[in-house]
Amino acid sequence: MSDELSDEARTRSADIRRLGIIGAGQMGRGIAQLAASRRIDVLLIDAIRDVAEGGKARVAVDLATLVEKGKIATAERDAILARISPSDLYGDLESVDFAVEAATEAFETKREIFRALDRGCRADVVLATNTSSISITAIAQSVTRPGRVIGMHFMNPPPLMKLVEIIRGLATLDETYATTRALAERLDKTTVVSRDVPGFIVNRILMPMLNEACFALYEGIGSADDIDIAIGLGLRHPMGPLTLMDLIGLDTTLAILEVLHGELGDPKYRPCPLLRQYVAAGWLGRKSGRGFHQYPAPQAAPGLPASPSTPAGTTGAGGGVVAPSTGVRIEP
Ligand code: NAD
Repeated sequence: MSDELSDEARTRSADIRRLGIIGAGQMGRGIAQLAASRRIDVLLIDAIRDVAEGGKARVAVDLATLVEKGKIATAERDAILARISPSDLYGDLESVDFAVEAATEAFETKREIFRALDRGCRADVVLATNTSSISITAIAQSVTRPGRVIGMHFMNPPPLMKLVEIIRGLATLDETYATTRALAERLDKTTVVSRDVPGFIVNRILMPMLNEACFALYEGIGSADDIDIAIGLGLRHPMGPLTLMDLIGLDTTLAILEVLHGELGDPKYRPCPLLRQYVAAGWLGRKSGRGFHQYPAPQAAPGLPASPSTPAGTTGAGGGVVAPSTGVRIEP
């Protein structure tokens, strides 16, 4: 977006001192790391206490990698970690200045969380969702402040990826949009605006390709490695589509495809049966250690336990990602 933000919007964004993040999975903890690195305090809430603690532990692992590489000092790592407060309680929400929901991609889950956010957060606080596909307008229906609800779609992994897609629901106020964009810019992101349609811009275009890669494997057109190498090297994508699905999470990929298929009704979005089968088997990608490829268990940072919820694999802030079997390296 090239149009200028008002000074008021920038001031409102600068006044955001504490961010509430709901969901401490790979996106929630990544947004927490990003915000804490920009000196914003974070309340990191998950339904399960251990998962919230584990989200912070996984941030510690990624920061340890940055220290090893000499990208940040240990004092900075400690300061970033000290800004993140894990919790399983919604009781602290009155202290947050902006909320980002990054929980499981399911409408009912998000609706319940938004009701809790609406009850707990001050009336002026923006309630953003990191949903990949679900209608912002429909989520906004669950609160008494639909004008303050907006889509703020970070890419994976949030500390590295430059884009934030902003999605306005039908009722979203101009002020909500401006504050959200100013916050994204404060986090050093470039923003684009999408209409509130299933999948928005990025996933509307990405998902059919990922689904097609599943069909290619299902129909035996090539092996998982060959499909990834073909697209990685043949189309110069930073990683193959099956590796990318393992990174996103096969459960999340399936949930997004189901929204696209259900809402748009076009058979081109029908999820590949093989994807359903993998999800039914619990092969969810990096987060479960196995998807189209296999991944080692996550390492704990010195003095901290490994996250119980965190995916195995080699994603690391500043470290890029190595596609496990293709060896294609990505520096998003
Ligand atoms: P994830 O499975 O890694 O984490 C989801 C977390 O939500 C889990 O820790 C779970 O315990 C928590 N959760 C579930 N119900 C909850 C509740 N009622 N209250 C609090 N926490 C709850 O998923 P993810 O990949 O981090 O995705 C989170 C959101 O971000 C989804 O909406 C997804 O579509 C979106 N997103 C994902 C990606 C990606 O690449 N994975 C990219 C952009 C956006």
